[in-house]
Amino acid sequence: MELEKSKRFFEKAVHLLPGGVSSPVRAVKPHPFYTARAEGSRIFDVDGNEYIDYCMGYGPLILGHTNREVMEVAIRQLRKGWLYGTPTPLELEMAEKIVKHYPSIDMVRFVNSGSEATMSALRVARGFTGRDKIIKIEGGFHGAHDAVLVKAGSGATTHGMPDSRGIPPDFVRNTLQVPFNDIQTLTDVIERNREDIACLIMEPVMGNSGLILPEDGYLSEVRKITKENDVLLIFDEVITGFRVSIGGAQLHYGVEPDITTLGKIAGGGFPFGIVGGRRDIMENISPAGNVYQAGTFNGNPFVLSAGLATLEILERGDVYEKLENLGSMMERGLKDVMEDTGRDYSVASLKSMFCVFLGDRPENYSQALKCYREKFIHLHWKLLERGVFIPPSQFETCFISYAHSENDVDRTVEAFDECLKEL
Ligand code: PLP
Repeated sequence: MELEKSKRFFEKAVHLLPGGVSSPVRAVKPHPFYTARAEGSRIFDVDGNEYIDYCMGYGPLILGHTNREVMEVAIRQLRKGWLYGTPTPLELEMAEKIVKHYPSIDMVRFVNSGSEATMSALRVARGFTGRDKIIKIEGGFHGAHDAVLVKAGSGATTHGMPDSRGIPPDFVRNTLQVPFNDIQTLTDVIERNREDIACLIMEPVMGNSGLILPEDGYLSEVRKITKENDVLLIFDEVITGFRVSIGGAQLHYGVEPDITTLGKIAGGGFPFGIVGGRRDIMENISPAGNVYQAGTFNGNPFVLSAGLATLEILERGDVYEKLENLGSMMERGLKDVMEDTGRDYSVASLKSMFCVFLGDRPENYSQALKCYREKFIHLHWKLLERGVFIPPSQFETCFISYAHSENDVDRTVEAFDECLKEL
């Protein structure tokens, strides 16, 4: 595989961008490929190589690259202007859609990224309850802001710094940690800090320590305990929202949080975030209440138009059916391949998300850390050579899109088969 041009771009980049990249997980060794363009299920690099893409922008592109309908709506909006600094009817259309699909949400605030959404969600939870402590799940990733960069998954774990430097200990003194799928520890932590805890923030399905699924009954037990102890429950559905189902993981598992954060898919592939929740909580956000939140680009019409076009396609019904079929095909195929290797490799999968673990399938972060991470990077490169692009980390999730085909899945399973045998 020829990657000469990408190599030269990276040599230049390391002098201009820290680590040569704009976000850590992209910094695969010895250098990443540089993208020239993408279309449907494919991404093409500057050296002319073509890959079936399972990174899909780390989740937002549920319809695949360059979806025509979304593109046309976004271009029509561009012609009308892309930033007004005033309210627009698009905000109401988007808010109504969110409220319709997420019954736990009465009101929303639009922001510009998942990170901003979780930062604002935590602030409103603290403002509403008048308490300072928060609980997060070990290995959960909620964006790159101070309060949640403790045992954070995703790129933070990939690069071996789940606790970032530059965050004064005082800023994270109020961030408590519990393992996923562990009700006893959660109960103990809540009991020890009963008067002080504002909220528990969690991904209902972990997508940043690889893909880790909740055990049967875990989420409903979490809901019960938080409710009994007056601890607000925040579901960070930045990945799972509109992915696990149109109503997110909360619809799939039948568990309603107090606050939800959304992003990725809801912006149609453009920068977006949403904080939504119960009316009595959301009415604390400025200017209705005194929890401050503001942004020049909040609710900008360009992103809203692309997001709305995406959600309208998702509402048509056949999308999730196709995604689920492709997801099951991938899961079956990969499970067979894993078994054939005779190694302790495993696969986790839910709807259109999947993750291959070079190790036993984990139930929490500390188990995920036991997988062979270095070997995973070899797997990543071997797959690229066979025209398949998966995120370059054991701690990320792969995403299937509406633009993928059964043929793509067959080719991918075949590629895994060959690569795993060579590992
Ligand atoms: N929450 C979750 C669950 C995420 O996976 C991410 C990013 O991957 C974020 C929050 C942060 O979102 P963003 O990268 O849009 O800031």
